[in-house]
Amino acid sequence: HWDYPDDGRLWDEVARDAADLARAGITALWLPPPNKAQGGASDVGYGCYDLFDLGEFTQKGTVRTKYGTRDQLLAARRAAREAGLAVYIDTVLNHKGGADFTETVTGTPVSHENRNIEIGPPREIDAWTMFTFPGRGERYSSFQWRAQHFDAVDYDQRTGDRSIFKLSNKAFETPVDPERGNFDYLLFCDLDMNVDEVRGELFAWGEWIMAVLDVDGFRFDAARHIRFPFFVEWLDRIRALRPDRQLFAVGEYFTGDVATLRWFIEHTGRRMTLFDFPLHFNMRAASRSGGGFDMRRIFDGTLVAQDPEMAVTFVDNHDTFHLGGGEPVGEAFRAQAYAIILLREGGVPCLFYPDYRANDARAPTQPMLDALLAARRDFAYGPQTDYIDDPDVIGWTRQGDAEHPRAMAVVLTDGAPGTKRMATARPNGTFRDVTGAIADSVTTGADGWADFPCAAGSLSVWVEQ
Ligand code: CA
Repeated sequence: HWDYPDDGRLWDEVARDAADLARAGITALWLPPPNKAQGGASDVGYGCYDLFDLGEFTQKGTVRTKYGTRDQLLAARRAAREAGLAVYIDTVLNHKGGADFTETVTGTPVSHENRNIEIGPPREIDAWTMFTFPGRGERYSSFQWRAQHFDAVDYDQRTGDRSIFKLSNKAFETPVDPERGNFDYLLFCDLDMNVDEVRGELFAWGEWIMAVLDVDGFRFDAARHIRFPFFVEWLDRIRALRPDRQLFAVGEYFTGDVATLRWFIEHTGRRMTLFDFPLHFNMRAASRSGGGFDMRRIFDGTLVAQDPEMAVTFVDNHDTFHLGGGEPVGEAFRAQAYAIILLREGGVPCLFYPDYRANDARAPTQPMLDALLAARRDFAYGPQTDYIDDPDVIGWTRQGDAEHPRAMAVVLTDGAPGTKRMATARPNGTFRDVTGAIADSVTTGADGWADFPCAAGSLSVWVEQ
C-alpha cells in the first residue's frame, strides 16, 4: 500500500495483527521495501538509497524508515513467523537514489521515447552517483558506489538538465523490456548489472538479508527494467542458501501483454512468478463498463489462463492505486474480482491491504473479504468446472476433495442479475450464500444440478451445508 501514514508504525502494526491476519486465512505478507530511501522517513521505499540500512543509521535525516526501525522490523518478522505467516520483502535492485556526492562524468543525452537515440553529443555533467553512506560507514558492507556502477542518470547538477544521460563507455543492457527502444533505464541511478562488482554486491546483500531477516521470498520491483539473466543468477544463488525450502519470487512486470510476460518467464526459466496485470486490466474494464463488459472474455489474454502456476493474481496493488492516482478496479466489480482471484484453482492470490483495512480513499471491504477468505479456506478445493458462457452472469463450481468434501458454486455478474445452471456432485444438496446477498437457500435436484442466482452487479458464493 502506498499511502500508509509516515509515522513509522507499520512494522508494529504487522506484529500486532499477524495472528489476526493468519486467522482470517492470509498465509503470507508482502512487506514494502525495508531499506532506507532517498526521501527519508516519508519515502515509500522505492527511491532506494541504502539496502543495508533497515532503519538503523542516521541517514537521509532519519534513523527509521517510513515503516519503523530495524528492531521493529525484526519484531514484525518474528511475530509473522510465530503466526505462521510467510514474509516476502519488496526488493528494489534496479536503481538507487539520493547519492551523497556528485561526480564529474561524461554523459550522452538520449531520447526519453527511444533510449537508443542519442539527442546530443557527449558532455561533462555533474552526476549524483557517489554513494559513500556516511551514516553507516562500512558496517555490513564496505562497498561504495561510483559512476562506473551505473548505466545512466537523469539529472545534471551543473545545468539542471533532466535529460537521460547514458554514462561514458556504457550501453543499455539486454534483454530487458523493449518499450522505448530499450527499457533498462527507469529513473535515478540505474545499476549496471554487467559489472561484476555490482552483481557481487547484490549477491552479498541477498546473503545478508537472508541472515538478518530470513525472509520467505521476494517481490522484485521494476523487473522489466533489469537484465533478465540477472534474476536467474541472483535467485539461484540466494535459493541455494535455503535448500530446505523454495524461496518465493514474484516480479512486477507492468504490462497488459501476456506474450511479454510469458517471454520473461521463459527467459528466467520459470524461476519467478509475475503479477497478472492483464487480469487486472480485464477486471478494471468490467468494473467500468456499467454492465456492458462481455464476461465471457474476463480471462482472455491473462497469465492465469495461460500459465496459472506462474501467475500472482491481484485486484489492485500500489502500482494501480494510490491516493495520488492510479486506475483501480472500481467498486462496482471489486467483490466479484476478489471472488475471481480467491475461489478459483489458478494463480496465487494477493489481497490489497487497504481493501482489507479501511483507509481514507477506498471503501473497506473486510466483511466481504473475510467471507471470501473463509470460503477459500473451507471450500476452494477439488475439480473446477467453468460456466463462463454468458455476457453478464458467469459461474464455476468446485467439487471439494477428500479433506474438504463440501462443494461450492460461485456465480457473479458485472451487471444484470440472473441465475447460472450448474452441476454439483451433490444430489438433493442444500446450498447457502456466504456473502449474505441472497438469504434463501438453493437445493440441487436428484441429478445434482441447480439454478444458482446472483443479484444485479453482485456475486453469490453458494456452499454446501
Ligand atoms: Ca535497469
